[in-house]
Amino acid sequence: MAEHESLEFGKADFVLLDNVSLEEFMANLKLRFEKGRIYTYIGEVVVSVNPYRAMNIYGRDTIEQYKGRELYERPPHLFAIADAAYKAMKRRNKDTCIVISGESGAGKTEASKYIMQYIAAITNPGQRAEVERVKNMLLKSNCVLEAFGNAKTNRNDNSSRFGKYMDINFDFKGDPIGGHINNYLLEKSRVIFQQEGERSFHSFYQVCVSVYVCVTRQTDATISWYTDQMGRGSSSIDDGGDFKAVADAMKVIGFTADELQTVYKVLATILHLGNLTFGVDGDTTLIENSKVVAVIGDLLATKEENVEKALLYRTVATGRDVIDKQHTAQEASYGRDALAKAMYERMFCWIVGRINDVIEVKNYDNVLQHRIFSVNLSFCINYCNEKLQQLFIQLVLRQEQEEYQREGIPWKHIDFFNNQIIVDLVELQHKGIFSVLDEACMNVGKVTDKVFLQGLNSKLANHAHYTSRKLSPTDKSLEFDRDFRVRHYAGNVVYSVVGFIDKNKDTLFQDFKRLLYNSSNPVLKVMWPEGKLKITEVTKRPLTAATIFKNSMIALVENLACKEPYYVRCIKPNDVKSPLLFEHERCRHQVEYLGLLENVRVRRAGFANRQEYPRFLQRYKMISEFTWPNHDLPSEKEAVKKLLQGCGFEQDVAYGKTKVFIRTPRTLFCLEEQRTEM
Ligand code: ATP
Ligand code: MG
Repeated sequence: MAEHESLEFGKADFVLLDNVSLEEFMANLKLRFEKGRIYTYIGEVVVSVNPYRAMNIYGRDTIEQYKGRELYERPPHLFAIADAAYKAMKRRNKDTCIVISGESGAGKTEASKYIMQYIAAITNPGQRAEVERVKNMLLKSNCVLEAFGNAKTNRNDNSSRFGKYMDINFDFKGDPIGGHINNYLLEKSRVIFQQEGERSFHSFYQVCVSVYVCVTRQTDATISWYTDQMGRGSSSIDDGGDFKAVADAMKVIGFTADELQTVYKVLATILHLGNLTFGVDGDTTLIENSKVVAVIGDLLATKEENVEKALLYRTVATGRDVIDKQHTAQEASYGRDALAKAMYERMFCWIVGRINDVIEVKNYDNVLQHRIFSVNLSFCINYCNEKLQQLFIQLVLRQEQEEYQREGIPWKHIDFFNNQIIVDLVELQHKGIFSVLDEACMNVGKVTDKVFLQGLNSKLANHAHYTSRKLSPTDKSLEFDRDFRVRHYAGNVVYSVVGFIDKNKDTLFQDFKRLLYNSSNPVLKVMWPEGKLKITEVTKRPLTAATIFKNSMIALVENLACKEPYYVRCIKPNDVKSPLLFEHERCRHQVEYLGLLENVRVRRAGFANRQEYPRFLQRYKMISEFTWPNHDLPSEKEAVKKLLQGCGFEQDVAYGKTKVFIRTPRTLFCLEEQRTEM
C-alpha cells in the first residue's frame, strides 16, 4: 500500500488480500518468504517466517528508519511493532506487552532479542548512566539465560527449555529503568536424559571445554554419563567461545568470583553424579565408585561421609522416632538423579534471582511496564499455548471493540473457535486433568500412573476433547492403560501417562536439602534455605508441579490481559533449517492453528486501516484542491472529510473522534496511487 510496497513482494498486510482464503494466504506468505520478506502484517500483528540465514535488516540504519514512524509507513518489521508498543505506552500511559508465539525453532527467542535491541537503541537519548547500566544488564541477561536454559534439540540448536517472561519498566521519559524476569518450568529432566541427537544444557559443555580443570583436578568428569549418553557432537556451537562470553556477561551483571566458582562447582558436581553407580552386597547398598564421592564432597564443601550418607539413606520420622532407612540401589539411583535435576534447577532459579536483584527497579513511582514474553515449556507447553490462544482471542477481539467504542463507531461481532473448553479440560477445579493428577498424587500408597488414567476416564468420559482406549475401544492408536488423547486447538496430541505422577510429585529426599544447606560454601547454602528444617519440622505437603504451574499460568494470563497486547506469530518454514525451503503443509498447519486466517477476517470485518487525522492529512493533502497546500476548514477532521468526499470514498470510511477509519484496503490503494501520481 505505501510507496515502498510493490506487488512483486506480495501483500505487506494479509488484510489486503483480494479474497481471504487459506490458498491466498499461503501463496502470499510463500511469495514473501521467497523474496526475502520475512515479515507480514495482519493489522498490528506481525507474522514472521524464520529465514534461517543472516538478514541485513537489523542494523542501526534500519532502526533509524523505524524510529517514531507509524506501522504502515515502512515495510513490516519487528521494529515497527516494538515502536508501536513503545509509543502506545508513552502516548497513552498504558502498559503494553508483546507476546511472541510459535513452535520450537520458529524464531521466538531471536525475535525477542531484536525487539530488546530496538528498544535499547531508541531510548535514553540523554545518555543517562543509570539507564545505560540497566539497558546493558537487560541485554546481557539473555546470554546468561541462554547458556543455562537452552540446549540443542533435534528441532533447534539453541532451543529454550524454559518459559520466559520479561518485564521492562520505563520511567516517565520513556527510558528503561529496570526490569524483571520470570521463568517457568525449566525442563530439568534434560539434566539426566536427552533424546538421541540432543544435548543437555549448553552450560555443561561450556564448562567442560573451559574451566573444569580449574575447579578440580582430582578425577575427570568432563566425560559424564549425563551429558555424553547421546554423544555431544555439534559443529554449530562454539562452546569455548560462548563460555567466555557468558562468564563476562555474568561478571558485568555483578556475579562475584565466588558465585561464579560455585556455579562451576555445581555443574561439575552434577557431571560427577552422572558417573556414580550403586551396587548391593548382601543387605547393603553401596556406591561402586567411591572416589567420585570424595570429589563431590570437595566440590560441595562438605564431608565425604555426609555425601555418602545422603546418597544411601533417608531419614524418616516415625512418630517421635527418627531413623535412617537404607535405600535400595534403585532408590539410590532415583535419588541421585533427583539431586542432579534439583541442583540444576535451583541454581537456574538462583541465577535468575541474582539478575533480578540488579535490574529490579527500587523506586516504583511513575513506572510503566512493557513486557516481552516467549514460551517454551516442555511438559505443559500445550496447555500454555491454549492459554495464550485464549488470551489472543480475547484481546484481539477486545482491542478492536474498544477502539471502535473509543472512537464512537458501531461494531459488529465476529465468531471464532473459542478454545476455552480445552483450557477448562486442563485446569478446571475438581474435574480438570491437573486436578485429577493432584488427587492421584494425594493417594498415599497405591499411586500409579494407571490410577491416574482411571481417574481421567471417569471424570472426563463425556468431554468432547478427551478420549482414551477405554472410552474409544476401537481406536488402535491408543494403548490401553497408558494413553489418553486431547484434541487441542492446534490438533490431536496423544499423551502417555507414564511418569506423570512422578514428575508431578517431584520428590527430592529431604536429606539432600540438608546436605546442601549445611555446606560451608555460603553461595550454595543460600540456594537451599529449606534445608534448615529438621526432619521433624517438615510436615507441609509441598504443592505439586502441576498446581504450581497452573497457578503461575493463570497469574500470567491475568496479568497480560490488562495490558495492551502486540503479537508476533512465528512460523517455522521447514525442519531442516533451510533458508530456501517453504514446506507448504508444515506452514499451512501453523497458519491454521495460530488462527491467522480468522485474525484476518476479524480485522477485515472491521476497518482495515485507521489513521489519526493530522497524519492522514499530512500524507494525502496533495491529492485534494481543498487541502493543498493548506485548508481553511475548522478542524483537521473536517478537512479529511472534505478530502475523502472529493475523492468519492465517502461510503467506505467512518469518522471517529481522533481517527479516520477506512473499511477496504482498496480505498487506501487508490489514495496511495493518486498520491504517487501527483
Ligand atoms: P525454541 O522454542 O526451541 O526456543 P525459538 O522459537 O526460540 O525456539 P529461535 O531459537 O529464536 O527459535 O530460532 C532458531 C534458529 O533460527 C536461530 O538459532 C537462528 O539460527 C534462526 N533464526 C530465527 N530467527 C531468525 C532471524 N530473524 N534471522 C536469522 N535467523 C533466525
Ligand atoms: Mg527459544
